[in-house]
Amino acid sequence: MKKVYLDYAATTPADPEVISAMEPYFFEKFGNASSLHAYGQEAKKALEDSRQTAAEFIGAHPEEIVFTSGGTESDNFALLGVAYALEKKGNHIITSAIEHHAIIEPAKFLEKKGFRVTYLSVDKDGMVSPEDLKKAITDKTILISIMQANNEIGTLQPIARLAHIAKEKGIYFHTDAVQTFGHIPINVNELNIDLLSLSAHKFYGPKGVGALYIRKGTRIETFMRGGDQERGRRASTHNITGIAGCARAIQLCQKNMENEIKFQGTLRDRLIKEIPAKIPEVRLNGHPTERLPNNVNFSIKYIEGESMLLSLDMLGIALSTGSACTSSSLEPSHVLLAIGLDHATAHGSLRITLGRWTKESDIDYLLEKLPPVVQRLRSMSPLYERKDT
Ligand code: PLP
Repeated sequence: MKKVYLDYAATTPADPEVISAMEPYFFEKFGNASSLHAYGQEAKKALEDSRQTAAEFIGAHPEEIVFTSGGTESDNFALLGVAYALEKKGNHIITSAIEHHAIIEPAKFLEKKGFRVTYLSVDKDGMVSPEDLKKAITDKTILISIMQANNEIGTLQPIARLAHIAKEKGIYFHTDAVQTFGHIPINVNELNIDLLSLSAHKFYGPKGVGALYIRKGTRIETFMRGGDQERGRRASTHNITGIAGCARAIQLCQKNMENEIKFQGTLRDRLIKEIPAKIPEVRLNGHPTERLPNNVNFSIKYIEGESMLLSLDMLGIALSTGSACTSSSLEPSHVLLAIGLDHATAHGSLRITLGRWTKESDIDYLLEKLPPVVQRLRSMSPLYERKDT
């Protein structure tokens, strides 16, 4: 059976060149980067070279990069670390209603500890308004955290404008760049970003490794205590294989980015045009133009995202839905509700995300298979039957 992977926002396969770059650090170069002997020094060199690669990619200095176990740890580190470092200065944090759970959950945790969190609402396209941000700032605000692109609907936030507002007020600005790093150009100085989270498995690197960029001088409490790795900012023996893989993945993104943006953008736009032409009563979720080059998200009315997902899975197509029967609450995605969808429409959402190995023929296959799946499910849907009554 043909197999088509269209869930690159969930995770990406590692690039074979990434695996080659990692391999020596499992075997002959297996040393601990904290050891003083030759094995250790070899690992340390790989660590520092990787740090340099990650830093240069976003216009940062190497000492501003702290390697972590991935996006979730980086997001937690940013929020909890800044909150605890600045708790005497203020107790107010601003974020958005559509952040990933890796931000929402530590924010809720901080609320239980006495911090106040404002969750900025977004418009129907998933955009945060700079005016709303300005209004939400108080003299107690210590951190603003707004994701660069949303993982479900792909909307790109006006990060430069939002971070500029933070800078004018002397407030730290963090962005969760897990969905953008490696996919679109980022320069932390041009954007005025103080903290930025990234995760290697979203850009063809290995799982379980990421980084937090921390601008020099930013006050942040250590999150993982133990040894003095990462200049005391993140204890634990370095994951050298993962870090070397992450660095190679960054180099490959640098090389391929321009072409990938163009090619994936063309495929994305084809889906955005052809899905509504082939299937009536669908709604594009996310901003029509200010969106990730690889993201398409549609609500397909009167049917469940999960039923579509499972039917497509049987045809070899892997994609994702914001319909969340995976969670105990059966609540649809908080992102789709935040852009104003009712529960039924949110439950019928499909996220299609493209990547390095997506081919035109994969899109042909999806466009061939999706309409009959929708038609079959709608023919069984009581909601569809009742729609005109
Ligand atoms: N932030 C965003 C926007 C994400 O999409 C994800 C992963 O889906 C994360 C954070 C968490 O990253 P990780 O899987 O590396 O912990």
